[in-house]
Amino acid sequence: MKKIGIIICDRYHTCAGGKCLRSLRERVGGFARYEGEEVELVGYTTCGGCPGGNVEYAPEEMKNNGAEVVHLATGLVVGYPPCPYLDYFMEFIPRQFGMEVVMGTHPVPEKYNLVHQDLGTWPGMVAQDDLKVLMADKETRLAYD
Ligand code: SF4
Repeated sequence: MKKIGIIICDRYHTCAGGKCLRSLRERVGGFARYEGEEVELVGYTTCGGCPGGNVEYAPEEMKNNGAEVVHLATGLVVGYPPCPYLDYFMEFIPRQFGMEVVMGTHPVPEKYNLVHQDLGTWPGMVAQDDLKVLMADKETRLAYD
């Protein structure tokens, strides 16, 4: 049983987690890595708003609840603009809390993909291997529009 927590971008703070929870159930996007494995979500919160002050505390609370992995929600990657602190969080969380951190939750929705490809947002800004996992395939991206 893998226990995980999710931190979302505060700009989506009213989000009920629909896409994240669906993708966890379907084991796609950032959750494809758990195929065939049981997963329990033990924490879900926002970053607290720029510059992400809650990232200083939330992983600890998740860890106290058994979480081994923190997923930074896909909203940090696809928002306009993507979170400027994403790289920092990816380095800070393992170092500070000894927890694994994963970029992303649900697959990138196709409508966001098209705009970001047009803008040339992602090269050099996000880890391309992580992005590749979140991109899934076109049919999946459309299903998450
Ligand atoms: S852009 Fe980053 S720091 Fe700002 S609210 Fe979103 S996740 Fe938090």
